[in-house]
Amino acid sequence: MIKRLTGFQPTGNLHLGNLLGAMRPLVEAQSTTDSIAMIADLHALTMEHDPAAVRANTLEVATLLLAAGVDPRRTAIIANSQVPEHTELHYLLECTAAFGEAARMIQFKEKSAGGGPVRLSLLTYPVLMAADILVHGAEQVPVGDDQSQHLELARTLALRFNARYGETFTVPEGIRPESAARIMDLSDPVRKMSKSAPSPAGRIALLDPPETIRKVISRAVTDTAGVVRHDPENQPGVSNLLAILAACTDEKPGEFTSYGALKREVTDAVVALLDPIRARYAELDPGYVREILAEGRTRVRPAALATVRRTKVAIGLLD
Ligand code: AMP
Repeated sequence: MIKRLTGFQPTGNLHLGNLLGAMRPLVEAQSTTDSIAMIADLHALTMEHDPAAVRANTLEVATLLLAAGVDPRRTAIIANSQVPEHTELHYLLECTAAFGEAARMIQFKEKSAGGGPVRLSLLTYPVLMAADILVHGAEQVPVGDDQSQHLELARTLALRFNARYGETFTVPEGIRPESAARIMDLSDPVRKMSKSAPSPAGRIALLDPPETIRKVISRAVTDTAGVVRHDPENQPGVSNLLAILAACTDEKPGEFTSYGALKREVTDAVVALLDPIRARYAELDPGYVREILAEGRTRVRPAALATVRRTKVAIGLLD
């Protein structure tokens, strides 16, 4: 089976875009791929952070993955901090990467532009991401536009290492699962729905109650054309609502005579999709979720240890 690694940042506020763009494709691929769902808690330390929030968000993401249908018997759910081979391989890959390669990363440039102190880990974390992928021999990595440069670096490092020291790593491929929808911000539909958007008005969090969902969708930005049609260029707001409806119901939307009618239908579809997830989330015991993370770690470690061992032999640290 194809090995696939899907990463999530433990930043809280997981939203409808994360569900329809990443979590649901992961659930759908469970029978045809050997998947790992990785929570990148180490990456959360690259910027100013609150330790309690990182801990809580890691558990929240793991719980939401389970609530959304990730089956831990098929998909290993791990936090990258709990599998020490990630950081061990990180250093070995740093010895393969160049400073200039890391400094060129768009995310590094953007996030370090604020003027405050810049953590060294912000520069090196794309190399950690390469280690996250290569340590498990992942063949496929679903990536959005914002991560494609980092995936390219992982490929470059794997190819370079293999060429210098002998065949060691599987070279991963960035993919966009067919079922992955791209959901836009409801208050600013030319931007992606995002956890970091300044205002929550454009976002539906996965644990939002129906009243909040209703309010957010009723205020969603549309336009003055007065016609419901899929035309992302000229009617991004209406097109986004249609895309959400299609993704939530898995059906082609019908005809609508008004924006109000469309919004009501979108609200019902989103509420119907999120209600059971919220209910399962409330039932999941934190102790059980921690056990699932521990099991995930146990399951992936033998292969990760073998990769690190192979890497150490190739690079000259072990016989
Ligand atoms: P993040 O934790 O923000 O890195 O996102 C986790 C996953 O959700 C990634 O695979 C993203 O591509 C996906 N994702 C984030 N925002 C959206 C969105 N608005 N629409 C679709 N997918 C998204």
